[in-house]
Amino acid sequence: MSAAGAPGTGVADLVIAHGLVVNATGRRLAHVVVDAGRVTAVVDAAEPVPAAERVIDASGRVVVPGGIDGHCHVAQVTGRWRTLDDYAVTSAAALWGGTTTILDFGIPRDAGETPLEAAANKLALAAEARCDVALHGAVIDWDETVPAQLEELARLGIRSVKMYMTNRGSTMADNDTVLKVMREMVRLDGLTYIHAEHDAMIVDCTQEHADAGRIGIGHLHETRPELAEEASVREVLAMAEYTGAPVYFVHQSTPGAVDLVAEARARGVEAHSETCPHYLVLDDGVYSSQFPEWYACCPPMRSAETVAALRGRFADGSIHTVSSDHSCYDLSQKRERTDDIRHMPHGLPGVETRMPVAFTALAEGWDADGTRATGDGAAPDGIGLLERFVDLFAAAPARINALPGKGAVAPGFDADLVVFDPSEARTVDGTALHMGTDFSPFHGRSLRGWPQHVVAGGRVVLDQDGFHDPGPVGRFVPRLGYRESLAAPAPAPAASVGAAAPEGQ
Ligand SMILES: [Zn+2]
Repeated sequence: MSAAGAPGTGVADLVIAHGLVVNATGRRLAHVVVDAGRVTAVVDAAEPVPAAERVIDASGRVVVPGGIDGHCHVAQVTGRWRTLDDYAVTSAAALWGGTTTILDFGIPRDAGETPLEAAANKLALAAEARCDVALHGAVIDWDETVPAQLEELARLGIRSVKMYMTNRGSTMADNDTVLKVMREMVRLDGLTYIHAEHDAMIVDCTQEHADAGRIGIGHLHETRPELAEEASVREVLAMAEYTGAPVYFVHQSTPGAVDLVAEARARGVEAHSETCPHYLVLDDGVYSSQFPEWYACCPPMRSAETVAALRGRFADGSIHTVSSDHSCYDLSQKRERTDDIRHMPHGLPGVETRMPVAFTALAEGWDADGTRATGDGAAPDGIGLLERFVDLFAAAPARINALPGKGAVAPGFDADLVVFDPSEARTVDGTALHMGTDFSPFHGRSLRGWPQHVVAGGRVVLDQDGFHDPGPVGRFVPRLGYRESLAAPAPAPAASVGAAAPEGQ
C-alpha cells in the first residue's frame, strides 16, 4: 500500500471520504488522506475528495483512531497454564476488532527469569505481530540488579512496570519491592501498573470457602470481595503519594475503587483508572449460569448494582481507559478443574470484542444519565458520546502510555483508522471469532460498535470483503517517558488542512 501513490504526483495511497471524523476533542465531516502509512491531511468534507489510489466512502459512518489495548496477555505462562494464542493470532484478532496497537507484558515466569529476559522473550515473539505492539515490564522480586534492568527496559522504550499485589508465591511483589520500583520509575520517568487486590484478605477468604466446601467456580465471586480490591487500591495510592510515582490501576471492577483514584487525583496524585469490558456488562449472576467457567477471571464479576454504578463512572469520565485484559484459554482448559478455582486458569479472551462491548456499555450508560441528551448528544462539558468513546478506546491509552503518533486522526499521526456505523448491531457468536479459543463470555449478546473498515499503518486490513492478513508487519513502538510525553506540545488532532469549519456537535 505504502508503495502505491507515486511520490510527487499528488495521488495519495488512500482517502476515507465523507466520514464523521471523531477525535477525543471533537468531530467534523471530513476526508482523511493517507500516504506512506500516515495521515497527511484531514480535509473538510465540503472540499472535493482528494485523488487517491483507493477511496473508501464513509458517508453516514464514523471514522475514529485505531484502538489501543493497553492490557493484553499474549502467550502468557502462569503456572502450568499457557494462553493459546501467539502474536500472529492475537494481533490479527485485535485488527478484526478495530484495535491497531496492543500492549503486552514481559512477566518473569519463575524465579530464574529476570524482568529483562522476560521482556526480551516477548520482543522476539512480537516479530510475528500483524498490528503494532508496545510492552510493559514486570517485577516480582527486588534485588540489586533491578535498577539497571529497569534502566535498560526504559532505553528499549519499555516505560512501565506491572506489579501484582496478590498471587502469593507466583507473581506477587511485596510492599518493599513495590515501593522501591515506584522510586525507580520516578527516576526513569516511567509508569507503575498495579493489579490491586489485598492478598491477605483474598487468601483468608478463599481458605474459608475451601474449608466450607464452597470452592467451585460457582463461588468465585464470593472468594474475592470488593473490599479486598478497594483496600489494596487505598494502600497503593498511599505508596504512590509517598513516592510521587504515577500509578495506573488495571481492571478496576468497583465504583469504590474508581472513586479512590478520583479522590487521589484531586489531591495531586497522578493516578489512572482502567476497567475491562466484562466488568461493564456482566454481573455475578453468571456464576450460577449454565456455563460459569466462561467467566473465570480475577477480579470476578461483581453484583448487578456494582456493575450499574461502574457503568456510570465509565460514562462520566471517572474511568480513563478500557482494556481487554485478553487472556486466551479454551474451554478444555477452563473445564479441567471447575471444582476448585485455585487450580483453574483465570482470564478471558477479549481483544477482538473490546470495541463493541465498550461502545455498547458506554452508549447505555450515556443514555441512562438524565443530564445528557440521549444518543450521541453532548454532555454539559461539551463532550459527546463518540468523543468519550474515542478517549477511552484510543486517545487516553495513547496519552497515558506515552505512545507517539497514536490515538488521534490528525496529520502526522499513524494511519490507524476504524470506520463504523454506531447504529449497526450484531450478535456475538463465540465460535465465529478469531481469537485462539472456542468461546466468548459475550456469546449471544447483541452489540453495537463493530468495525466495518480497519486501516493499520496505512494498510486496509478489514473491509467489505473480509480480512486481509498483512503478514508480520506490526512494529514495536518504543514509548516516551510519562512526563516527557505529557510535556510535549499537544497535537491539534481536530485541526485540518485548509478547513475553517469549527468542530461541530
Ligand atoms: Zn492482566
